[in-house]
Amino acid sequence: MEKIFFTPGPAHLYPSVEKHLASALRNNLGSISHRGKQFQQIFAETTQNLRQLLSLPSDFGIYFTGSATEIWEKSLSSCVEKSSFHFVNGSFSKKYFEFAKELGLHSHKAEAPMGEGFDVSKIDIPTEVEVICCTQNETSTGVQMPVSDIHALKDKYPEKFIFVDAVSSTPHPRFDWNKVDSMLFSVQKALGMPAGLGVWIANPATIEKAKALKAKGHKASPYHNLIQLAENGSKNETPATPNVLYIYLLGKIAEDMLSKGVENIRQETSSKAKMLYDFSESSSQFSSFVQNKEHRSETVVVVNTVRPSAEIIEEVKKDNMVLGAGYGSLKESQLRIANFPAISVEDVEKLIDKLRRL
Ligand SMILES: *Cc1c(COP(=O)(O)O)cnc(C)c1O
Repeated sequence: MEKIFFTPGPAHLYPSVEKHLASALRNNLGSISHRGKQFQQIFAETTQNLRQLLSLPSDFGIYFTGSATEIWEKSLSSCVEKSSFHFVNGSFSKKYFEFAKELGLHSHKAEAPMGEGFDVSKIDIPTEVEVICCTQNETSTGVQMPVSDIHALKDKYPEKFIFVDAVSSTPHPRFDWNKVDSMLFSVQKALGMPAGLGVWIANPATIEKAKALKAKGHKASPYHNLIQLAENGSKNETPATPNVLYIYLLGKIAEDMLSKGVENIRQETSSKAKMLYDFSESSSQFSSFVQNKEHRSETVVVVNTVRPSAEIIEEVKKDNMVLGAGYGSLKESQLRIANFPAISVEDVEKLIDKLRRL
């Protein structure tokens, strides 16, 4: 019997993955040259579909890497000379900050306890900071940074760059691209693909910043720095031999999401999230980890459990559903439930029904 994966990445595959992967192999995409016309067309089609899916302006670049983790590193090493600022409230946002430290940057952070978000209006960002890094959806704790808070940062600090990690929410957040300079995600979360591809979006100002730093003698990493990605990307190519299959697959998944309608997907995501939160509020066995409703993620729902979470995961597995455990020290007492587009309303109903009967 087919399993439903409620795990927050790798996650349940989008229903059309199998069909598109089969057609990719049938069309020999595993063997074509990445310097030929056929690949350039695939690159062009995938970026065009993503541009439409995310309502991205035509002058923003879309580039492919091996993972989102790679983009943390490349975004900092390509675009930051001295200082970045990080909103840290869980394991992923913390790692982005730690990368900055590893790279020798003089970086700053605002830190919130696990399960909490930020009051961005109360946070002062030092003058020397060039780039503000926000984790829109902190996958370890199920805390989201409301898009309006991210936009407000650009209003308050128009001269600073806003970089957003939206790995476990894309395509759910509706960004105003006048307020976001760069965004990154990977495909094994809400896009419902197997892991192995990161996507980096950057506006012309971000690319100019990387070029200006280079002109000053700043050393970015030689592999997959932003200038190199942009130069190759302008020819619908990649610096190294890329994951052609997944670039193709991503274009097809984006196309399928477009035919369903991105607004329909967003509404469905919101209503499934509401079902999960309403259930956990009404149950004596579960409760929502994130108290502030504004900060509750709609794509990764984290609930506290009364019983050890491993027992619940085992029970639910008997009905072919796979839940995520809590992250790190919260492993035993929490469940993380991915609410990505590949999960249907019926899947959520089935899960809630099972949890209710435990
Ligand atoms: C999963 C995740 C990452 C890392 O993605 P990789 O594709 O494994 O590199 C980064 N940020 C967030 C918020 C994530 O959920």
